[in-house]
Amino acid sequence: MAAEYDAQVLVIGAGPAGSSAAVHLARAGVDVLLLEKDAFPRDKVCGDGLTPRGVHQLLRMGIDTTTPGWRRSRGMRLYCDGRQMDVEWPTIGRYPDFGLTRSRHDFDELLANHAQASGARLLTETKVTGPVTDTTGRVVGVTATSRGSDEPVTYRAPIVIAADGASARTALATGWQRDPRTPLATAARRYYRTDAFAKDELLHLWADLSCAGTGGTLPGYGWLFPLADGRVNLGLGGVPHHQHGNTDLRATFRQWISRLPAHWNLDETTEDSPLRSAALPMGLNRRPQYRRGLLLIGDSAGMVSPWTGEGIGQAMEAAAIAADTVTLALTRTPGPGREQVLRNYPNEVDRRWNRYYKLGNTVAEQVFSRFGYRPLLNRHLMNSPAAVGVLTRLFAHLSS
Ligand SMILES: Cc1cc2nc3c(=O)[nH]c(=O)nc-3n(C[C@H](O)[C@H](O)[C@H](O)COP(=O)(O)OP(=O)(O)OC[C@H]3O[C@@H](n4cnc5c(N)ncnc54)[C@H](O)[C@@H]3O)c2cc1C
Repeated sequence: MAAEYDAQVLVIGAGPAGSSAAVHLARAGVDVLLLEKDAFPRDKVCGDGLTPRGVHQLLRMGIDTTTPGWRRSRGMRLYCDGRQMDVEWPTIGRYPDFGLTRSRHDFDELLANHAQASGARLLTETKVTGPVTDTTGRVVGVTATSRGSDEPVTYRAPIVIAADGASARTALATGWQRDPRTPLATAARRYYRTDAFAKDELLHLWADLSCAGTGGTLPGYGWLFPLADGRVNLGLGGVPHHQHGNTDLRATFRQWISRLPAHWNLDETTEDSPLRSAALPMGLNRRPQYRRGLLLIGDSAGMVSPWTGEGIGQAMEAAAIAADTVTLALTRTPGPGREQVLRNYPNEVDRRWNRYYKLGNTVAEQVFSRFGYRPLLNRHLMNSPAAVGVLTRLFAHLSS
């Protein structure tokens, strides 16, 4: 490594995207410095659910999901207009046949620790304040401040990966705007402590929630995901329609919860957190995901699935692709040869995901934002396990 660099690769943000990138890079022998603004453990607004494709990413990083704290799901229970159906995760050989839940409070810390154990250097309470560029506009580092000091410090590396989440501050600071045609959902969740789901092996999803105030169908869905720690994660979210406007998620949440079965014990006495909401940037909203020394992974590149609102698995998968690309790029001398390799990262993302996201963006715009998931879970479909199985594979991206 040239003396002026602090690392071969800088990764900004130690969420699932950044920590996974650091794991893969460190395992490949790359000197990687991971910068995180918060201290662990910390909360992150999320549903905490992983479908089998996301679980696969954990397994390939060597995370032991049989240890306490993880909770397996064998499928989903779908609710719509008085009907319900259980659907198992498919057994297709390519992915695990189970999903997982774990609160992000634990999950993110575990993954960041795993990155360190793999050889990455982690600096927490280090907030990146902006990119550092050379005279050609190429990103060659970042400035950051540490807790207790306003004095900015510069960290330099020939390649920088932004994994700073939905705020996408690093991308924005380089003038990299989100594609406004892609969907942007919002969702809210709260934890409850209840033993009503102690033996439950399913993720619960509702397609028939009504928006408070308007009475229209929520342009999304509600979820209840049981966790291993005796709590459940209850939440709802949707893609606002540009004409119908935003849904009042808090009021809709209150209305929904008052209608859930009383024996589930989901009320003020069992609340275990405030109701918190956040944005879900979807549909590959910044492309191509590489520009002038900077790669984007996870929410910073809008990688949340427009089909399901999942983004953890996508963040980890993109991190693996980015790490592979960067490891190869570092074998080339800086210049056109290295650039050629780095430009392969968005190509590989497109090869795996473009069709899935493109179709998903259209469905989110034309169907989910207007009618929610209700039309899909209609009476005919809810009577056909085979059709629901096909939909599950499509939604959770389990066929390719
Ligand atoms: C309500 C809700 C429910 C959801 N439910 C699910 C679900 O059940 N399953 C699922 O798969 N996905 C879910 N998602 C989406 C999922 O949370 C995200 O897609 C996922 O967290 C993306 O990971 P990431 O690493 O890209 O970003 P993040 O998890 O946001 O991590 C970004 C990291 O960067 C750090 N950071 C930010 N700025 C800086 C800076 N300037 N300097 C240093 N560090 C910085 C942050 O502190 C953070 O640690 C949900 C989202 C919401 C809002």
